[in-house]
Parts: sequence; C-alpha cells; structure tokens
Amino acid sequence: MASDGPIRTRRPAFSRWLAASNNITQQFLAIGVDPDFISMAGGLPAAEFYPTEAIAEATQLALARWGAGALEYGPIEGFAPLRQMIAARISRETGRRFAVDNVLLTVGAMQGLDLLGKVLIDPGERIVAQFPTYVGALDAWRPRLPVYEPLDWSPDTGTGVAALAAAKFVYTVPNYSNPTGALVPTAARLTLLEKVLEAGTWLVEDDPYLPLQYDGPAGPSLLALNGALEPAGPYRGPVIYLGTLSKSIVPGLRVGWVIAAPEMIQMLALAKQSSDLASSMLTHAVALELLEAGRETAHVPAIVRHYVERRDALCAAADAELAEWFDWEIPPGGMFVWMRRRHPSIDTDQLYGLALEQKVAFVPGSVFDPQGRLRSAMRVNFTRNPPSVLREGVSRLAEATKNLLASND
Ligand code: PMP
Repeated sequence: MASDGPIRTRRPAFSRWLAASNNITQQFLAIGVDPDFISMAGGLPAAEFYPTEAIAEATQLALARWGAGALEYGPIEGFAPLRQMIAARISRETGRRFAVDNVLLTVGAMQGLDLLGKVLIDPGERIVAQFPTYVGALDAWRPRLPVYEPLDWSPDTGTGVAALAAAKFVYTVPNYSNPTGALVPTAARLTLLEKVLEAGTWLVEDDPYLPLQYDGPAGPSLLALNGALEPAGPYRGPVIYLGTLSKSIVPGLRVGWVIAAPEMIQMLALAKQSSDLASSMLTHAVALELLEAGRETAHVPAIVRHYVERRDALCAAADAELAEWFDWEIPPGGMFVWMRRRHPSIDTDQLYGLALEQKVAFVPGSVFDPQGRLRSAMRVNFTRNPPSVLREGVSRLAEATKNLLASND
C-alpha cells in the first residue's frame, strides 16, 4: 500500500516577541520545588504567615452573605461593594475624594500592567520607565514592542518635559522599588508630577510595597500629591495608580486595583473584557470580608516584624561574607536588597549560573533592563526565608562569587 509520506511535523512559528523574552519566572518556580535549594529570587511573601484561617472564615462568610451572587460572572469593573470599599480607602489615604468610577478591580496589579499595555502602547511608542525596571512590567509590554527611555528622578538634572511629552506614559515604583528597594524622596516625586502635568502624559504609579514600611513612613503617593493640587471635583488627573493585596494579605487571592481618571478606567475595562471576561467575584467578596473585618490592618504589623528581622539578618550576613565584592543600601521597606558589584570582573549573569550550581538563586540585573545589558547587579529577596536559611544562602552566594573570580583568573 502506498504511503502518504511522513506526517508533517513543521508548524507555524511562534510570535516574534517571544524570541526577546526570558523564562526566568518559570525557572524560579521550578527551583522552588527542590527542598535543598535556597531561592532568594522571587518577590514572595513568607508563606508560613499567610492568614489561612481568616481566609477560610472570610470565604464562608462571603458565600453566606452573597450566595450565588458571588459565583456569577461579575461586572467587568469588579464586584461593586469591593470597588466602593477601595474608593473609600484610597480617599482616606490621599485625603481626596475618589469615586467608584475611578476604580477598576484587576487580577493582581499585574493585570493592571497588562491592560495598560493594551490600551496605551502601539509598536515603537515610547515609555519613560524607572530604571532598573520591574521585570513583570517589561514582560507585560514586550509583545507591544515599545521603546524605553530610563527615568531620571533628580529634580534639577532629571528627565525633561520634552522627553516626557514624547512618551505615552511614565512608569514608576516610588515606594521600595522592585528591584532596588529604593524609596523616592517626596521632592523628587513632586518635581516629576509637575513635569508630567506640563508634558501632558500619563503617569503610572505601581505601589505593591506600600504596606511593607520598615524605617518610617513611605512618602505621599503621586496620586495624593496630584489630588492635593486639584482637590475639588471628580478625579481626572494623569496618575494611574496600581494597588494590590498580594503583599499585605496573600498573592493567591489575586486581588488588585487601578485608580485613574474615569475615561482611563473605561478603556481598561474594555481591554479587560477580552482578557478575562470578568475576574473572580468570589475572591472579591472574600477580600471584602477580610478588609471589613480589619484583617489586613492586623496582619501587616505582624509580618513587618518578621521582615525587618529577615532584612537585617540578610544584610548582616552579607556584611560578613559579601562586602568585599558588593555594595548595597539597607532598604527602608519592600522585599529586596539590590547588590551592586565592586569588582568589574563580576558579571551577574555568569554568577547566576554558578549560584545555581551551589543551589542558591537570586535575580540577575539583566532581566530588569529592557536591553538586557545590566550585568553589574543582582536582586536578593529577604522576605521568603527565615534568618538561618538566609545566612546559608549568603554563604553559598559567597562560594559562587569565589568560583566566578577563580574562573576569571
Ligand atoms: N508591580 C511590582 C513592582 C511588583 O513587584 C509586583 C509583584 N512582584 C507586581 C506589580 C504584581 O503584583 P500582583 O501580585 O498584585 O499581581
């Protein structure tokens, strides 16, 4: 019988943007499965403190309260009572009234970033972004082929109005940035806001680390500063603020929000429709119970105590074992220490490979650079592991660094 020939195995190629992507997040998830591995890579909270019982109780209460109503496809903007609550909360935090139509509930802040890409970026358009830049934002926007310009915050010599006007939006993480842990001073925030208002562009303020304050309060948000300039009437300013419950309660609820001018919220909602139709009303209803019962307010001080201890343990161990090769600042909040090489022959991409051999992981600086060129620094997380594990992780990192320098000789 005549054969029809070999089955065709060639398939159409994947979309071109994937070639410029990285699989670092997948790698971290895989590493997490090996019990001998110490991962100081992910931006993860400490799972042992998750308020599991409070979440179980809130789920029961939510179902008893809303019944089938919590199990439907929801409105695309999110569960109305939680939107109301977030509007009231942001009004309290900023001292300015925000209405429900200033609020969109999202699947974590990450979906807010994704939706912003959908509604604002056409290929080749410019984004002025805080540098180094949160890898999740770069990942979210990569398929849309933007061009990046680094944001310089300095009030006098910083990014000028013309550069801001040429950009579709400015992307910032002013509180305890990912990856550097840096806190932007209030004066710099105010100057940037003034320039943005003059330039007439959008200003994204991504603020997941606001609850994790260790050495005094974070500065006023760009949203609050803008609100103070225009205190009356509905909020129609340029700030697009992203918040989340991921760091203050648990990431697994996947509850985040965008606060912005109503016309921006409407466009994001339109984009959201084709992303997920509607996010889970059940988790919105659970989040509402948790917030109403004051669970977040009670939980945050408890985790902050542990995180301060962990930050200090990591920095003390690094002082003892890594100071010859790296410089860093003790971060005043957030989840990360940003270690910069002191020795030009330390390439953090190479070090990453050698660290994996020692069964320890960090995030190499290159993934926070749109060009992938930053190989002089690394992000080290301190929230996920207890002090003893962090100390062992630092010893392994020191070993990996010695191996790197020996291989360069
Ligand atoms: N923005 C920044 C700067 C982050 O660090 C993270 C979390 N790593 C996110 C957004 C996404 O957070 P969420 O869990 O709310 O999606």
